[in-house]
Amino acid sequence: MKRREFVGGIAAAAGLAGCSQADNENTGVQKAQQRFEWSCVTSWPPKFPGLGMAVENLARRLERASAGRLKIKVYGGGELVPAFEVFDAVSRGAVEMGHDASYYHKGKVDAAQFFTAIPFGMNCTELNAWIYYGGGLKLWRELYEPFNLVPFLCGNTGVQMGGWFNREIKSVDDLQGLKMRIPGLGGEVLRRAGGTPITLPGAEIFTSLQTGAIDATEWVGPYNDVSFGLHKAARYYYYPGWQEPGPGLECIINRDAWESLPDDLQALVEITCQAITTDMVAEYSHGNANSLQQLLEDPNVDVRPFPPDVLQHLNVITRKLIDELAAKDPAVAKVSVPYYEYLTKMETNTRISEYAYLDTRR
Ligand code: CA
Repeated sequence: MKRREFVGGIAAAAGLAGCSQADNENTGVQKAQQRFEWSCVTSWPPKFPGLGMAVENLARRLERASAGRLKIKVYGGGELVPAFEVFDAVSRGAVEMGHDASYYHKGKVDAAQFFTAIPFGMNCTELNAWIYYGGGLKLWRELYEPFNLVPFLCGNTGVQMGGWFNREIKSVDDLQGLKMRIPGLGGEVLRRAGGTPITLPGAEIFTSLQTGAIDATEWVGPYNDVSFGLHKAARYYYYPGWQEPGPGLECIINRDAWESLPDDLQALVEITCQAITTDMVAEYSHGNANSLQQLLEDPNVDVRPFPPDVLQHLNVITRKLIDELAAKDPAVAKVSVPYYEYLTKMETNTRISEYAYLDTRR
């Protein structure tokens, strides 16, 4: 038998019984009859709007489109493994699939952050272009190879909001001492700008903001922020989300599990992950537009842009930070150099197409 068994025991439930004849195991007929039952762990609360529903949709569509040959059971964060251990669980083959954001692997695989979002980096359209046509996917696959993982882009929230603030940000000075829930590279940028970044699980954000334990928080955008009630805990809602300009989500598959799939099911997984990104962008655009309307009509909420010099300051800090990371870690440099080359080229294109057009609708 050439088929590799992967560790973790889940494979035993994969409905592969009856394939004992090495002779005909790989014939088309045999492969077409194989059924796979996989588990997918995620970093999201179960069925969470947007993020959690995207992976439920992925599983449902794969099962339907494969006529039940690929059945995936989705687990919310903490149900099977802790929310931030998705990468490890799929890597060691305890489960076949995971859905999370690659910037959660900061500290383990720093270069992975470029495949979710970098402050002042690519937006959703630009990230799609880089991943699918600009060499991004190849770099991503190489980065995850030692972890026995195959990554797929699977979702995007679109540009986020800068966040909720209980004090006005009129200049760079107002960032001094600002206690803000902001994870990842964005948090490090805030720290270098004089603020105090704090990491909090989603469930604690509202209370921390309301009690004054923190001065500000970023979360996602109007759609998710209103469902968390953040507009009842802070007055100022700043934009844009410089820290997350179009974060891509990932579907990761254990390499042995991936290689056990016949070609048509592999194609189905690739196509469905792309479809989920399209679907999620539509869901967020729809949800954000509705929730933003509600916020603009709320007399207790003040939606406003960051001052340009504050954004410029944070941008300069970001580039220095990335340069430092790239100098320390060759894996970061291998991704960051082509990333910024691509972004520079794309920036010109985006400016004379999308930006220029949007200006005509003012
Ligand atoms: Ca965010």
